[in-house]
Amino acid sequence: MSCIFCSIIAGEIPCHKIYESEFVIAFLDIGPVSTGHTLVLPKAHAENLETGSLADAERLMSAIYTIAPSILKAVGADGYNLGMNHGECAGQDVMHTHLHIMPRTNGIPRTFTKTHPSKEELAATAEAIRAELQKVG
Ligand code: 5GP
Ligand code: ZN
Repeated sequence: MSCIFCSIIAGEIPCHKIYESEFVIAFLDIGPVSTGHTLVLPKAHAENLETGSLADAERLMSAIYTIAPSILKAVGADGYNLGMNHGECAGQDVMHTHLHIMPRTNGIPRTFTKTHPSKEELAATAEAIRAELQKVG
């Protein structure tokens, strides 16, 4: 089975990681709809939420609780969209359960159009988020 997110988790493909626990990892989306757009996923492969464990579903929401405030602070956002594309019919491209945190800022139009920041820009955003996360331990 080939899964790009499992390859990222295994360290075979690089990512701009912002958070990792025993069961969950979060890294920047390579095609963000807004600065700080983050993917949060269980490390255990499952195609969708319900084929994974309930424990992993709960861990995903715990991770959102932990990391979303730091993402908002780091990128100067006021809120966020939380999203999950479940199944091809819903627009799921990567068949490994993941949540999207899409930061939103007052006065900036809310779009779902992908952007293509440079590696350096993504690295700087990830660094800023990690710094905010460190402040809250
Ligand atoms: P989906 O449509 O499956 O909900 O979202 C998959 C997301 O994964 C997309 O937003 C896409 O930009 C992102 N993505 C696809 N390949 C990679 C990758 O190799 N690295 C990272 N960081 N994000 C990826
Ligand atoms: Zn996978």
